Amino acid sequence: MRIGIDLGGTKIEAVALDERSNVLARRRVATPRDDYDATLSAIVALVHAVERDTGASGTVGVGIPGTISPATGLVKNSNSTWMNGRPLAEDLPRRLGHPARFANDANCLALSEATDGAAAGAPIVFAAILGTGTGGGIVVNGHVLVGCNAIGGEWGHNPLPAPSAAESPGPACYCGRNGCIETFLSGPALARDYGSAGGLTVDPAEIARRAEGGEASAIECLTRYEDRLARALGSIINVIDPDVIVVGGGLSNIERLYTAVPKLWARYVFSDAVRTRLVRAAHGDSSGVRGAAWLWNE
Ligand SMILES: [Zn+2]
Repeated sequence: MRIGIDLGGTKIEAVALDERSNVLARRRVATPRDDYDATLSAIVALVHAVERDTGASGTVGVGIPGTISPATGLVKNSNSTWMNGRPLAEDLPRRLGHPARFANDANCLALSEATDGAAAGAPIVFAAILGTGTGGGIVVNGHVLVGCNAIGGEWGHNPLPAPSAAESPGPACYCGRNGCIETFLSGPALARDYGSAGGLTVDPAEIARRAEGGEASAIECLTRYEDRLARALGSIINVIDPDVIVVGGGLSNIERLYTAVPKLWARYVFSDAVRTRLVRAAHGDSSGVRGAAWLWNE
């Protein structure tokens, strides 16, 4: 049995999968925000709970926002900032009494979708989480490309490619720079763009509904978003040339992205034709937790 944990900013989810990736048990709790020790205890309690539910013990894989720094062994790059600088990779196995594997949450999404999801069997897969932030992960031939700094696939804090005058220098980002991809393509960024163009601030799902209903400012906002996404993904295609790009996170539910963006990205990709497919994560919200369980299959 494989147990996967998805540590999110608002909830922690656990699943237990059997050999054929059937779900044997599933549990979720609210994340104890701003409290590292309580977060650790919540993960331990979830593992014990699914072990009780199934009457079996299992391997434990954990998807986290950010990653474990190979340089220090501590959590880094987490937008759940109370986890940064903490020795999670040491503390959790000690508390559990057995080993655990850790990976970035977007790497878990990529692994899940490349294993038995929307990119099953594809040799090169890029997965992007478009939600609170803009995570990214790469799977090649079924294996996560972690990288020597453990930041493989992290595209969100690259500058937005080919910025227009209006996009320069771009919004300030929490990482200390301006104009990061995340400041244009995250959910809050899309909501802010719609608001600054004269609309009220509404969530991305509502913007998509208004665009479907024919509202001009919502359509213009999504058209800007799609061109920015095409530029950002075009630079990924130029570097790793993926067969499939899988999108997860809240914004993956905006249906028009999957037709609009591939029409736009040809002009940013150095190729006669672009055969890369852009698809929505098949396992939806559960993709991250499934990928975490699959970490022991690597
Ligand atoms: Zn940034």
